[in-house]
Amino acid sequence: MTNGDMRHGRCGVCGGGEVYQGEYVAQNGLRQRGASVFGSKQVVFDAFVCAACGHVQLHVQLNAKISAHIRNNLDWIPPRRDMG
Ligand SMILES: [Zn+2]
Repeated sequence: MTNGDMRHGRCGVCGGGEVYQGEYVAQNGLRQRGASVFGSKQVVFDAFVCAACGHVQLHVQLNAKISAHIRNNLDWIPPRRDMG
């Protein structure tokens, strides 16, 4: 969890307290950059939306299959030391 985590009701961009929660259904799925539609997996996101500035934070609703798809298909970004 970071200070920018909107799940706690505070916008990570404008700092406002008008964060609303909904669900975002990705009709075309989640895939590796450049992959075809056949490499996509249907996912549902928990969406946290700031009504003041429009910033959106998405969290995939994880299960074992979705986690495996992410780990096996998407591009991992190794944590940067200078980001703490
Ligand atoms: Zn905001």
